[in-house]
Amino acid sequence: MQVYKFGGASVKDAAAVKNVTSILKENNFNEKVVVISAMGKTTNELENVVNQYYAGNADWQKSLDGVFEKHLTIINNLYDNGNKPKAVDDVKKLIEAARKFLAENASRNYNYIYDQIVSIGEYISTTIVSDYANSVGLKNTLLDVKEVLFTDNAYTEGKVDFKKTEEAIGKKVAELVKTGFVITQGFVGSTPEGFAATLGREGSDYTASIFAYSLNAERMTVWKDVEGIMNADPKEYPEAQFISELTFHEAIEMTYYGASVIHPKTIKPIQNKNIPLEVRSFVNSGKRGSVISANANTNFLPAIIIWKRQQVLLSFSAKDFSFIAEDHLSKVFATFAENRLRINMMQNAAISFSIAVDFKKEKIENVIDALQNDFSITRNDGLSLLTIRHYNQGIIDKLTKDKDILVRQISRTTIQMLMRE
Ligand code: ASP
Repeated sequence: MQVYKFGGASVKDAAAVKNVTSILKENNFNEKVVVISAMGKTTNELENVVNQYYAGNADWQKSLDGVFEKHLTIINNLYDNGNKPKAVDDVKKLIEAARKFLAENASRNYNYIYDQIVSIGEYISTTIVSDYANSVGLKNTLLDVKEVLFTDNAYTEGKVDFKKTEEAIGKKVAELVKTGFVITQGFVGSTPEGFAATLGREGSDYTASIFAYSLNAERMTVWKDVEGIMNADPKEYPEAQFISELTFHEAIEMTYYGASVIHPKTIKPIQNKNIPLEVRSFVNSGKRGSVISANANTNFLPAIIIWKRQQVLLSFSAKDFSFIAEDHLSKVFATFAENRLRINMMQNAAISFSIAVDFKKEKIENVIDALQNDFSITRNDGLSLLTIRHYNQGIIDKLTKDKDILVRQISRTTIQMLMRE
């Protein structure tokens, strides 16, 4: 059994969907679970629907229509024989269910609303791909991931119940692969109440890893628009180098600091079961990619450069001028945790405590609202967080030339600097 994951770019339009079916054909599609993300930038578009709705802007309706139109075009371009495929009605139903949910919703819990709406991107994409694959003879079953992947109700950062999930996936997939391969949604899980809880942006990698873990898969493959793992983003750093092999440990560190190649939570489950993960190109699908495994040779690893853009630095000082102590910190941390605002970097001083986070407008505002009675809060927007693993002075100098650095942290292997963009 193998698990494949196709991200948004690999299914962004009709040609891309056709390419996915070719890859499946070339690689013996039976005995596979195929995890698919929302098409192209659909998650961002649905996020926009939620933000408009949450702000009371009636344009959310139009934005939702836009999501439907986009997918309709993809379906129309997939089938050139004039037949109306079943996917059209299925997608329409998903869109209308989302519309009904928003129209009737009375909750002000942003994260809950977000997950119910944003998750439909994956339901739409898998419906389209599964239908199309079946129509070209790649026999598959569409599995609703909410039947087998269980989380708590930490919306937008669902925490997986591995025991229950492993059992359900094992049972269900064993039954379904008898009649073809399995297609399922990335990024989404089910809360105990049966609501959707997403696993964090780019969470489909994690979904694939949960399936690989639960099925004791022989291998997991993530198909991307790059040849494999690089030591830096080539768009930011033209001299970026290809890394052919990497240990699980290094991959965890890289992704923790924001290397966008794979979702940070992806590695742990497959590491526990020693399942190798290959990152390879859907554009150049015959080429070998980068392999992450337990016994990779990393003697020649270059410095790894990771940029996180659009960072916000929040600095807290107690209103009573007292020192920042543990009781303050526990309050700050609890508020960040409740709002699921992930901390990228933190630093404390006598009377202030600073935290860098991604620019997540609503979450940041909710955190500030909750803490402003107790703390004076200053906010710096438009920052970049640079992390270099296996650094050397030359590379630090090169990347920080003429930069205004606000916070710097250094350990034996890693340096992090928060600077103005
Ligand atoms: N569609 C989700 C996102 O864009 C999850 C994923 O693609 O992995 O974040």
